[in-house]
Amino acid sequence: MAERRAAGLVISVLLACPWVNAGAAEDAAAVILLYHHVSDETPASTSVSPALFEAHLEHLETHDYQVVPLSRIIAALRSERPLPERSVAITFDDAYQSVYTAAAPVLQKRGWPFAVFATTDYLDGDFSGYLTWDQLRELERGGAEIGNHSRSHGHYVHRRAGESEAAWQARILEDIRWAQARLTAELQKPLDAFAYPYGEFDRATARLVAATDLVGFGQQSGPVDHRSDLHTLPRFPMAGRFADLGSLAEKLRTRVLHVSVRAPDTALLAAGSPAPALRLQLEAGQADPDSLSCFVTGQPPPTVRWLDPDAGVVEVQAQRPLPVGRSKYTCTAPVPGAPGSYFWYSHLWMKPPTPRDWYDG
Ligand SMILES: [Zn+2]
Repeated sequence: MAERRAAGLVISVLLACPWVNAGAAEDAAAVILLYHHVSDETPASTSVSPALFEAHLEHLETHDYQVVPLSRIIAALRSERPLPERSVAITFDDAYQSVYTAAAPVLQKRGWPFAVFATTDYLDGDFSGYLTWDQLRELERGGAEIGNHSRSHGHYVHRRAGESEAAWQARILEDIRWAQARLTAELQKPLDAFAYPYGEFDRATARLVAATDLVGFGQQSGPVDHRSDLHTLPRFPMAGRFADLGSLAEKLRTRVLHVSVRAPDTALLAAGSPAPALRLQLEAGQADPDSLSCFVTGQPPPTVRWLDPDAGVVEVQAQRPLPVGRSKYTCTAPVPGAPGSYFWYSHLWMKPPTPRDWYDG
């Protein structure tokens, strides 16, 4: 029954809307990979080893992916021009030393572009473990693109005790604009792009990034395409067990699972709250009750209830309350006619320890 419904929907949608055809060039997706450290010495949760990084590059090359400048993907998304086929961008957050010592040399050997998102107070403060402005300029001269990773690397979503919404907005806007001004002063041509510290954002934060005219990148996983929100673009974090070659190969083949979030209206959970019920409306032809599968990091599979299968409305709820910190619900469904390829959507949650505090890291 579900299969018949899905097949009927796919055919009728294909006739009506050619952009739903997963194979059409207009629907091409790009994958943006996110790295932090490329080192054997740094925490596994934010690192890949130099050997694994080289294996990633080898995989990209042997499977005919095009590693393109992040600016090219941004330009395509902004202008509706087609995304290059099989395009992948490589990005690094925080501008750690290992980007300069381990990653850049092997990328430059292949002549491949990459982007580094830098936190300007770390550069201005000569923090150890991070690049210097001179090193960043050298990378830029070698073809790297440098983007804004804030001035302070703060938890932007957290409103301070007693802080009005207007005061919070002014503080966050100033933090982003200060960093962009520093990048502009020190470099030739910084990217018009901002990567949220810790990948944390809510709707209000995304609106502030939109007000600065920068494109915004998160750390929730997923590919991007022309219908992606330009201020909350996903990237696939590459570290720990998410970075093994099988996992990389799967992520490179993903397409965007297009959803509208029906509830709740915020990704910020109350301290001590039960597992959130995420209500999504899926697009016809992308997933049905038989094909959608969802997962929650560190937990058994969540409950998936189809509230209105004909309208594509589904509710996903973890079996246990989410821990303090960041969590994600991720849903995937096979792309019809493309074995091994999945539609993919990941939803970020943030949960503070108490109503007034935020968590570290
Ligand atoms: Zn960061």
